[in-house]
Amino acid sequence: MRASKLFFPTLKEDPAEAEAISHKLMVRAGLVRQLAAGLYIYLPLGQRILEKICRIIREEMNAIGAQELSMPIMHPAEVWQQTGRYNDIGEEMFRLKDRGGRDMVLGMTHEEIVTWLAAREIRSYRELPQTWYQIQTKLRDEARPKSGVLRTREFLMKDSYSFDANESALDMSYTLHVQAYKRIFERCGIEYYMVESDPGMMGGATAHEFMAPSYAGEDEVAMCNCGYAANVELARSVPEFPEYPEPGAEEVATPDARTIEEVSAFLDTGPEFMIKSLMVMTDAGPALAMVRGDQELQESKLGRIIGAHRPATPEEIKEITGAEAGFTGPLGLDIRKIADKCLKEGTFIIGANKDGYHIEGVIPGKDFEAEFADIRRVRAGEQCTCCDNKLRVEQVIEVGNIFKLGTKYSEPLNATYLDESGKEHPLIMGSYGIGPARIAAAAIEQLADEKGIVWPAAIAPFKVHLVLVQPADNQQSAIAEKVYSQLMANGVETLMDDRDISPGVKFADAELLGCPVRVTVGKRTVSSGQVEVQVRRGGEEHEFEIGAAAKEVAGLLDTL
Ligand code: ATP
Ligand code: MG
Repeated sequence: MRASKLFFPTLKEDPAEAEAISHKLMVRAGLVRQLAAGLYIYLPLGQRILEKICRIIREEMNAIGAQELSMPIMHPAEVWQQTGRYNDIGEEMFRLKDRGGRDMVLGMTHEEIVTWLAAREIRSYRELPQTWYQIQTKLRDEARPKSGVLRTREFLMKDSYSFDANESALDMSYTLHVQAYKRIFERCGIEYYMVESDPGMMGGATAHEFMAPSYAGEDEVAMCNCGYAANVELARSVPEFPEYPEPGAEEVATPDARTIEEVSAFLDTGPEFMIKSLMVMTDAGPALAMVRGDQELQESKLGRIIGAHRPATPEEIKEITGAEAGFTGPLGLDIRKIADKCLKEGTFIIGANKDGYHIEGVIPGKDFEAEFADIRRVRAGEQCTCCDNKLRVEQVIEVGNIFKLGTKYSEPLNATYLDESGKEHPLIMGSYGIGPARIAAAAIEQLADEKGIVWPAAIAPFKVHLVLVQPADNQQSAIAEKVYSQLMANGVETLMDDRDISPGVKFADAELLGCPVRVTVGKRTVSSGQVEVQVRRGGEEHEFEIGAAAKEVAGLLDTL
């Protein structure tokens, strides 16, 4: 490809309001443009990168026997009503009506549709297992589209679905996906971890996420050297316990102290000797969630116990407890109470449900009843539950995930098969997603330097960026043309910058675009008979004879 013919509008300045490195660089390198919040246009180079990633995904999915199909983006609401997700999913789902007044939705994912298909087409155990996939557009009205292509409202997803006769066959389909995913992320050249995850809205029991470490990520994982790795949404750790004071419930005046910090300062004690009581509202009424004062509530863990919930308003708290927010505690409240397991041990200070008062010396489980469960957030430095090491917590981008769904979708949609004896059973399913745009952005986040993008070779838009310093110089131009055609003949995808612009701009663009190898043909090449070669990652330099340059560069690329 010749740069003079390629549309890649590069920019010197970062786009306004961009924070993530990948967001800035994808716009500056002319890969994408934003149409509206969370809606991106992929320009030719951006599209080329996505296609490279999709090709790797296709190859690896095909290699595990998955078959590509394509399902519509628009669905009748009815299918989503049958699984209940039409109601369970709120504003994230785009909804519309067709001209006949029928309710329709835009697909956020395709469990419903693929199961609808399986319900009609799969009959017998002889047809199992089946794994079907597509690489297709998903639409989600994300609450906070941000960070460029990392969280958009329209995005490409590889989604695959497995259908098996029993749990052990599902284990096999799951394992095959784990292997395919590992190969995909390795081939794409990004660093990643596979971690335990929360099945969330997909339902089902077992799930893992593939996480690319990056400060631009919105997820956090707790990790240990022993191999334990889990999303903080469900990660566990061994808490530390202080020496607790003697029990004996006693009311103390704490006139203006409401927050954990204020009360612990006022009573001259540590936050670990207090209970943080958080009032939340659920469909079944209010509930009180309690964690130790020095710890944080993990909403997702609480959600698995009480379902959807929101914080109570100060007015609601006043009505339920009789006191202002800041003096809430479990005593005397006849509502559902969930206490973190850490509170099973110790004596604590709690809110008295009376303005200006707290109570000291309270023993959870004795002075008040509660359901004890792990609802606290793990912290870096806490001990791993599997070994004696300390956990670390890292920020990551979720690039893919896999779920064992079981019969969550096949039962409501009546997707069954007949076994050897003609008996009917629900299909056992799995569902598996990957976001190609997130892989591209993660690669940029992980490898970029101050000059621009540094692509892993497999997903770079071109392998070689050939800079022809002065196109007006006939000798330089002839050499560049020769090297260019030899590179192409060696199967090396090359972008030749033959534009009639300043060399400084060309070199800056080459660094911004981040192709793995830059080859320069300039004045020195004419006099020395050698082309200058620089590896983008690390900056290693070489000089190769003009005639041998293409072969040498191809060899060099093999080592990257
Ligand atoms: P997140 O927790 O980040 O919202 P998710 O759990 O909703 O992700 P899935 O529904 O499982 O994601 O989608 C599968 C994959 O699709 C994700 O692993 C991610 O790579 C990609 N993906 C999901 N949402 C988006 C989005 N809004 N923009 C870009 N890619 C996305
Ligand atoms: Mg999401």
